Amino acid sequence: METSVTLQRAIELACLETIGRKTETVQLDDAAGRVLATNLPSKVDDPRFDNSAMDGWAVRVADCKAEGTTLSIVGTSKAGGEASPEVGTGEACRIMTGAPVPEGADAIVMVEDSEEVGNTVRILGPARPGYIRKRAENLQVGQEALEKGTHLGPAEISLAATMGHGEIEVVVRPKLAIISTGDELIPPGDELAAGQIHESNSYGIAVLIEKMGGQAIRYDVVHDTIDGLRATLDSAARECDAILTSGGVSMGKWDLVRRLMEEEGNLSFWRVKIRPGGPPLFGTWKETPLFGLPGNPVSSHVGFISLVAPWLSHCMEAHSENGPSLADRVRVKLTEGIKGAPGKLCMRRIRIEAGEDGMTASVHTHQGSGNIHSMVAHNGLTLLPPDTDAEPGDIIDALWCR
Ligand code: AMP
Ligand code: MG
Repeated sequence: METSVTLQRAIELACLETIGRKTETVQLDDAAGRVLATNLPSKVDDPRFDNSAMDGWAVRVADCKAEGTTLSIVGTSKAGGEASPEVGTGEACRIMTGAPVPEGADAIVMVEDSEEVGNTVRILGPARPGYIRKRAENLQVGQEALEKGTHLGPAEISLAATMGHGEIEVVVRPKLAIISTGDELIPPGDELAAGQIHESNSYGIAVLIEKMGGQAIRYDVVHDTIDGLRATLDSAARECDAILTSGGVSMGKWDLVRRLMEEEGNLSFWRVKIRPGGPPLFGTWKETPLFGLPGNPVSSHVGFISLVAPWLSHCMEAHSENGPSLADRVRVKLTEGIKGAPGKLCMRRIRIEAGEDGMTASVHTHQGSGNIHSMVAHNGLTLLPPDTDAEPGDIIDALWCR
């Protein structure tokens, strides 16, 4: 077991214990938010044929040199319609956006630049070859425009549809158990007695898991007894691919997750050099990977974003750039000084704003690791290296959380 490891070492150690990656085929309608399991080749050229980018007239450029030229109308090309007549010298074919460009035509005149007179049309504006969208200018048959490991969002889903895939192979959503521990925790909505608080971590962590393309299974809160915790870990190990606990990993007498993992589990590391959220642990319980996240709400979220998310991406073989991610690395200019942490990577909450001179970051609420409101009032985390304070005006690395 290693103690007080860097975040990078923690991720490395966790990635030694992965969960089996399985794949399944789903309808495109059910694919949003999932991770693509294979490279996806296009079944079609896009566009499939030369077509018009405008409503107007398919013409020959050579015929339209002089303004006011009159061309005779030979027919109409409609999107999805039948083959249209060829356009010869002195002729024009009415054309709709997306309709095939008739043989013989090499440019489009916008309808706004024309005047129809009986069976003829007067050309009053430019004939533009650029208004023809060329066959396969976007994609060619066989081109793997979506790569394995891509997180499927709106544009990716549309692209899969464009390429002709009604169903696709995705990574089976890893099932992650979330177990909150603590005698004081009561579900939101229930009455609180003296000393009790609402349990919140499992709800937020569940959203983070689902955002990554995983499946969150929230267990009832476990009270601070070794037997209760052991029984819940046993069920979770049977039912899920991995376990996330919240609370009970510090030095306190009631920090039972740490105690139980030390005595009966298989600990890989305890404590990571990050602030907030220093005491997370990782290991296996009955062969099932287990992250013990701290109970403080900000710490549990930051622990997930910085430690669990990279591990989960690795398990799903997510794409390094296009895979699911909860934060983007950016450079920001600080509007105020920020204190770092001795010996630890410091992830203070910051509000990142795009201004005239680039991205700036400022601090708005109390930074305590118990204050989950600070994760709402801010949209980023500093990445201040250990033992580094930042001055106003400094440009630093940060995570821009989505
Ligand atoms: P612990 O890590 O168990 O010592 O908890 C640290 C702090 O976080 C304590 O103030 C707990 O009351 C609080 N806490 C622990 N678990 C949760 C939870 N699931 N939801 C909200 N607060 C929690
Ligand atoms: Mg506790």
